[in-house]
Amino acid sequence: MTEFSGSCLCGAIAYEVYGQVLNMWNCHCIHCRKITGAAFATNIFINVNEMKVIKGVPSTFQNKSDSGNTMTRYFCCDCGSPLFNENSARPGIRVIRIGTIEDANFAKPWCDLFISKALPYTPLDQDLVKFERMPPTGAFGTKN
Ligand SMILES: [Zn+2]
Ligand SMILES: [Zn+2]
Repeated sequence: MTEFSGSCLCGAIAYEVYGQVLNMWNCHCIHCRKITGAAFATNIFINVNEMKVIKGVPSTFQNKSDSGNTMTRYFCCDCGSPLFNENSARPGIRVIRIGTIEDANFAKPWCDLFISKALPYTPLDQDLVKFERMPPTGAFGTKN
């Protein structure tokens, strides 16, 4: 059963997700800001084998994260929409960019990461857990 689906702005790339969301958080780090072009990213974590690109072939770009891991970024080479990324430190996990999801009303991030980098004007939900940088090891996978 499709849990949710999404696409890039021009529609050349479309995908479906069949499994449950593993985690979701807001990240205010400079890499997330640059890759989304937005003030912060809401990152939706899923199992890569529980999603399928049903239309088109995303282009990829790789860079190193602050912790030295390889980040693979998937995007549409026609319209430029950022779609997903993968972190070499988390094999089998893919992060979906929330802005590409058709109906993301289900989303409920539990924390804000890299709050030390948040832009001063960014409205912050005070109910969410705040981390100066990354959460401590073990926090990944916690939904609530
Ligand atoms: Zn596109
Ligand atoms: Zn980030």
